[in-house]
Amino acid sequence: MNKFKFTIALAMIMMLFACKNMKVNTEALLDRKVDSVFALMNIDEKIGQLTLYTSDYDVTGPTIRASYKEDVKSGRVGAIFNAVGTKYTRELQKLAVENSRLHIPLIFGYDVIHGYKTIFPIPLGESASWDLEAIENSARIAALEASASGLHWTFAPMVDIARDPRWGRIAEGAGEDTYLGSLIAAARVKGFQGQDFSGTSSVLACAKHYAAYGAALAGRDYNTVDMSERTLREVYLPPFHAACNAGAATFMTSFNEIAGVPSTANKQLLTDILRGEWGFKGFVVTDYTSINEMVQHGNCANEKEAGELAINAGVDMDMQGAVYNNYLKKSIEENKVNIEQVNAAVKRILRMKFMLGLFADPYKFCDEEREKKVVFAKENLDYAREVAKKSIVLLKNSKSVLPLSKNIKSLALIGPLANNKSELIGNWSGQGDWHNAVSLLDGVKQKVSAETKLLYAKGCNINDDSTNFAEALKVAQNADVIVLALGEGAWMSGEASSRSNINLPGVQNELYKEILKLGKPLVVVLMNGRPLTIQHIANTADAILETWFAGTRAGDAIADVLFGDYNPSGKLTATFPRSVGQIPLYYNAKNTGRPFDEKNKYTSKYLDIQNTPLYPFGFGLSYTTFSYSDVKVNKDSISMTDTLQISVTVKNTGKIAGEEVVQLYVRDLVGSVTRPVKELKGFKKLMLQSGESKEIVFKLTSNDLAFYTLDMTFKAEKGDFKVFVGTNSVDVKEAKFKIY
Ligand code: BGC
Repeated sequence: MNKFKFTIALAMIMMLFACKNMKVNTEALLDRKVDSVFALMNIDEKIGQLTLYTSDYDVTGPTIRASYKEDVKSGRVGAIFNAVGTKYTRELQKLAVENSRLHIPLIFGYDVIHGYKTIFPIPLGESASWDLEAIENSARIAALEASASGLHWTFAPMVDIARDPRWGRIAEGAGEDTYLGSLIAAARVKGFQGQDFSGTSSVLACAKHYAAYGAALAGRDYNTVDMSERTLREVYLPPFHAACNAGAATFMTSFNEIAGVPSTANKQLLTDILRGEWGFKGFVVTDYTSINEMVQHGNCANEKEAGELAINAGVDMDMQGAVYNNYLKKSIEENKVNIEQVNAAVKRILRMKFMLGLFADPYKFCDEEREKKVVFAKENLDYAREVAKKSIVLLKNSKSVLPLSKNIKSLALIGPLANNKSELIGNWSGQGDWHNAVSLLDGVKQKVSAETKLLYAKGCNINDDSTNFAEALKVAQNADVIVLALGEGAWMSGEASSRSNINLPGVQNELYKEILKLGKPLVVVLMNGRPLTIQHIANTADAILETWFAGTRAGDAIADVLFGDYNPSGKLTATFPRSVGQIPLYYNAKNTGRPFDEKNKYTSKYLDIQNTPLYPFGFGLSYTTFSYSDVKVNKDSISMTDTLQISVTVKNTGKIAGEEVVQLYVRDLVGSVTRPVKELKGFKKLMLQSGESKEIVFKLTSNDLAFYTLDMTFKAEKGDFKVFVGTNSVDVKEAKFKIY
């Protein structure tokens, strides 16, 4: 090494040490600051920090505490949620810092789930973009707006794996797959939290609902969960782990029990795994009154005992239950709780307040000028349209009825969602105001030529049996093409919104059948918060676009797709079943000992329906077509430390440019415990011009193939594997390899 290189190397090593020391110093400084406040606190003030109350500005649960402002003044509250806006948060912050003995500032939290005022597609829809950058950016914009509006903390991302579309909260997450769900969890945490908390545009993320809430029996919200530790760790926990690794500042416990233990009392989850195994340093908040609800669950006799279970398990902050405020002091006096646990919880919360810079300036996020400038800014709205386009999934396009020509002579827009705004921003839409949403009709008006005759009729309501079919039919008869906008109300998914059937509600199917009889080109645009059972429509419509609840710019984005200004590229992240009786139906299932064989009666099946889904996980069409070469592996067998390369060439065989999500799945053929028939292990979204082809190379190591073996060690096992590459989880090409 010459002298120059040596000097550079030395400088770099010194810089590394300096950075490391700087980090240590910052941490130590933070600890000292926390300790300096902590040392002054009496027990009531400590318990106050562990308390989160809702304001009466917005309602997201069953109880409101009338005296919350008095509690803020007396230092008995650490954080407030459901209070938004610079003006109002400043007012409440003032109550805390000017009245309480120690002037400790509040943290303001809110459910900023898919946008604050500028609303993006519901998370299930956004996940269908398979575009991690877009997902991170949309969370970033949500954080920009929320922080400009006085908020420090969002109760998002929801990273619950959902295999049951009856469960209304499937709308709030990234669907059924653990691998994709984990990447999306990390992207959203990064988006919300930004680089660090030193500025004013980052909000604390909250990975929720920890854990396995999505596995509620029969898809009924809040219902019991019972599962093996293996399934818990392999399927449900990894997105939480990913959120933790991405730096999620907080975690929220879930309402459900798992195998008899409510999550809010689950020490294994909250302490052993979260803090012990994953090294989580942030704080854990309960869900809304979930400490109190343990009395109903039946694992304790009263709220005081419930609080003891919670704090001892590792819950730091009590959301809205007032259990810590009412009983924790007594429990401490009676030695029923570990005081160290209480102290640690207080310090964790103070630490976040210091990190956010609230002790230095409690009104840091209360800049009215900034709020005016940032919230609902044009660039945010433009980006919402981009993300909405990416989220749309083309489910069917026979006879290439789509895209429509902008010069079409006449077009009928029919259906309860055709000229609707109120549903488009979906559930959990923060401060989103549906009046600002762009309806499909408005979006289409912007596209068609001045000569186009654009007709509209509602036909029926979303969810009752009132009809105006006659008007709809009259309008439809006069059109060259019919676009029928059908779906759910926004309130039909989200919390406490499970459904026992997932058909189109009301008389929408009847409207569809009447319109179908006209025999005109028929495009169905779906707007909904979950997979629906739409077998008849799938069999008979010419085209189907799944648009979810696409947010503030929904109408523009859907029109972009309908008229070919954007070539759809979304892929389903939750299986569409043929019938509700097939649920739970997900792609990464086990084979069983009697996999379906049509020649053999005694195999796993239904008498009245196929096993296969209507649309599988990963499915989505484009206005162009793609061909896949055979799949090649660079070696037939690899050692535990080797890397396998899997390559495939994808070609755009159609006439226009388009994006494809190339998906990689694996099957471990023999394990010490059984393995799923397919597991997503990679994907690549790529743009190909007409006629263009590209080789995609995926890499796999044994780490990617690890699972919880018979003795619950997490590792890969030697043996035979299949690898699949394709356009969805069913249409794949395969190759084999071995691990030795
Ligand atoms: C929901 C959470 C939400 C909380 C606060 C609860 O009912 O389950 O997801 O963050 O309310 O609004």
